[in-house]
Amino acid sequence: MGESKEYYYSLVASILNSLSLNISVSIESHFPGNRNIGGKYCLKTDTITMYLEEIKDQCRSVLGSEERLVDYFKVILAHELGHSEDRDLEDLAIRKYKAKSNYEKHQLALGIEENAWNYAKQVLPELLPLIQVIQNHSMKIYVNRHTG
Ligand SMILES: [Zn+2]
Repeated sequence: MGESKEYYYSLVASILNSLSLNISVSIESHFPGNRNIGGKYCLKTDTITMYLEEIKDQCRSVLGSEERLVDYFKVILAHELGHSEDRDLEDLAIRKYKAKSNYEKHQLALGIEENAWNYAKQVLPELLPLIQVIQNHSMKIYVNRHTG
């Protein structure tokens, strides 16, 4: 169900073009693991991978249907672009790696996520309410996973 990979590749191309960004984005069907990861930015290779089936699952569970799947995809992409455009990311990631306490690691991780959400809000102001819903949902999972 839904649009094809080709559709999403052209959507990615038009978004990158409108933001004057030149980053490699690939689109896969499934995230290779048990976690429900919709998108991933790799600092080492400076590439983004989007996982369509996971995004569909998240969209259904957060919004109750796939009606706004394309918007949901855009939000996840904008979030990953936020990581790739975050000039503090490398420094924050190193500080997180070296942090002595779990609390400090957690705070740094939250800061990294906040930066990416702020970027998404800047570049997709027309989707602000949706971004807020997705952010709240993902931060909740994030907090539970890292404190539980
Ligand atoms: Zn993130």
